[in-house]
Order: sequence, then structure tokens, then C-alpha cells
Amino acid sequence: MDIWDKKKRSAVMAKIRSRDTKPEWIVRRYLFSRGYRYRKNVKGLPGTPDIVLRKYGVAIFIHGCFWHGHEVDGTMPKTNQEFWKSKIKRNQQRDARNKEALLKMGWSVITIWECQLKPAVRQQSLQEIEYHINHAYLSRFKPKVPHPYGEGKEKALGMVAEDEERYGRK
Ligand SMILES: [Zn+2]
Repeated sequence: MDIWDKKKRSAVMAKIRSRDTKPEWIVRRYLFSRGYRYRKNVKGLPGTPDIVLRKYGVAIFIHGCFWHGHEVDGTMPKTNQEFWKSKIKRNQQRDARNKEALLKMGWSVITIWECQLKPAVRQQSLQEIEYHINHAYLSRFKPKVPHPYGEGKEKALGMVAEDEERYGRK
């Protein structure tokens, strides 16, 4: 017996569909199978990234090519072109602002386009995503080793200036 009536069930299913749209699901399933753990639709971060790997400092957006204006696709409806153009332009500007804000907070941002997840190129794209995640992780925790020559030179110059100042006071 169904515990939900039909109306409630279809509302719940619609909610699930909008939340776990297919391209996002492809990426999440891959990352999960590779052992990555993440949070979905993180509202606390600019733009509500679709996938957030806190440990790696990585935020991932999966963009629909039409709504977010993927230039290489460039498909535009035949009617109301101006309306769509300005709407997509606003989305692009908002995406850029969100990305900038995340970068300033120290996140690495990966943007994946829907067309990059088509079957023919999917595997390659997923591997590239994984590469970017690991690269971000490594550069985040890379020990900052100062260049011995550069550092020494700076210090020597500082000392010279200090000595001159002391000498002048005498
Ligand atoms: Zn595209």
C-alpha cells in the first residue's frame, strides 16, 4: 500500500528530480565511487555549489549549457532572442561573481558544463575533474619553502638599511 497519495508522491518525485538532475548525479556518483566524500547544494557558500569537497578545498558547479550561456554551444531560441540573451547574460555575470567570491575565500572552483558529460566525452571529463581535485589539494597543502637565495638577499638589504640608520644617528 502506498503511504502517500498520488498528488503528494508526484510532488516529492518532482522535488527529487529538480534536486538531483542528471549531470550532477553523474559527477556525484563518479566521485563517490572513487572514494570522495562531499556535500551537495551547499547554501552557505556563494552560488550554492552543486558539490563541495571541503577536505580538498574544492567547490564544483555543474552548469546547464543554455541557462549559463556556454559559448561553444551557442544555441539560442529563434523567438524572443533579446529576452533570452539578457537573461543568460545575467546568469553569466552572477556565475562570475560567485566564482570570484569563492576564489577570494580560498576555494578552488571547478565548472563543469552539461555537454562535457555527454557519453562520448564523459569518462575523460570525469578523470579531468578528479585530476583538478587532487591538484587543488596538493597546491593547498604544499609546504611553503622559501627560496634560500631570495630570502637571504632580502634580509641582507634590510640589515644594510638598518646599519645606515644607526650610523647616521651617531
Ligand atoms: Zn556546453
